Amino acid sequence: MSIEKLTILGSTGSIGTQTLDIVRRNPERFRITSLVAHSRWQELAEQAREFSAESVVIGDKNHYRALKEALADTDIEVMAGNEAIEEVARSYRSDTVVNALVGYAGLHPTYLAIESGKRIALANKETLVVGGDIIMAAAKRKGVDILPIDSEHSAIMQCLEGEKRRSIRNLIVTCSGGALRNIPREELHSVTPEVALKHPQWSMGSKITIDSATLVNKGFEVIEARWLFDIEPERIKVVIHPQSIVHSMVEFTDGSVKAQLGNADMHTPISYALLYPERSSEAMEHFSILDYPTLTFAEVDREKYPALDIAYECLQRGGTAPCTMNGANEVAVAAFLNHRCGYHDIVGAIRYALDNASFEIRPTLTCYDEANDEARELAERYLSRR
Ligand code: NDP
Ligand code: MG
Repeated sequence: MSIEKLTILGSTGSIGTQTLDIVRRNPERFRITSLVAHSRWQELAEQAREFSAESVVIGDKNHYRALKEALADTDIEVMAGNEAIEEVARSYRSDTVVNALVGYAGLHPTYLAIESGKRIALANKETLVVGGDIIMAAAKRKGVDILPIDSEHSAIMQCLEGEKRRSIRNLIVTCSGGALRNIPREELHSVTPEVALKHPQWSMGSKITIDSATLVNKGFEVIEARWLFDIEPERIKVVIHPQSIVHSMVEFTDGSVKAQLGNADMHTPISYALLYPERSSEAMEHFSILDYPTLTFAEVDREKYPALDIAYECLQRGGTAPCTMNGANEVAVAAFLNHRCGYHDIVGAIRYALDNASFEIRPTLTCYDEANDEARELAERYLSRR
């Protein structure tokens, strides 16, 4: 079996560190070419030493000197800034790029890695939310595989193995309901970030945990599914499933429904993406269905969670609309995490940005940069006027 050379963008984050767990367990299979982080330079230096990376990039240039000194006694090349992230994303030295960056920052590196013909293991869902059309077209043109790490999309991909496109009736994306699922709608206005960060099942980065509490994350996953599986939005359904054991399902034309089940552990979808079409010979943790005698499913309360319908609306409008939603959400989530605004202001900022942003139906990558900047400005304006 040949050794696969990996670049991990966002190696210090929740997905990044779990990806390194998989690499650690499969030393005969993977070698690390480059590791990329934004601010956590000490962790990055430790990872680079442990995995003998060829190069590291720290996004925030303020940490370049400290990182350089920390690795001074090694041959590891040290770089900083967005240009360096883009350079390693397209470097000839790696075969696969794992994109575990958070937010809009993931878009350009994914595109450049595809253009360089690399296999993509994609956790950064914002890449597809913003630029799904351009990204999937580029992947097709270059003959590049995009393997989803998001657990719902990994589940759907597994359910679709060996099936014909024409046999698919609906994709059914499951949703835990996030940290606020037991808090009544009338009480949401007083929710603090500390409460919203307590996800009942998944331990993830702070941005996606807040996105899970608002269901923006589920809206983004509908958009992600639309592009990954090339399916009309109205055939992507969302159901609440509080146990997070069924990771998603596919309903077929003959009435059969296939589901993928397992522990709520991201190591499984990460290893599925990295090892595809093989499977890991060893599970991180054994799953027993007997531990879950009751699995429940329910409709989403669309009034409690307006973000889900906004995501469908953005898909319907197409063009730069999902990019605007994403940019405004990033600003509002950061403000909420810093106690600068309330829970409802997240959807408030998204709505305001969508209602006031300019719109481009056939955007280029540059249009996305402009739409993202505009959405961020509009969200800031909304938050400052409240
Ligand atoms: P984290 O916040 O835990 O990690 C983000 C990583 O990206 C860190 O390594 C961080 O560096 C780096 N980073 C952040 N901003 C920048 C930037 N501007 N430039 C360069 N690097 C940057 O996020 P998660 O791991 O939770 O999520 C990553 C992606 O995966 C997101 O798109 C999320 O939606 C998706 N995802 C995550 C899941 C999960 O279980 N966590 C599940 C499904 C999808 P540093 O820490 O050094 O600042
Ligand atoms: Mg998910």
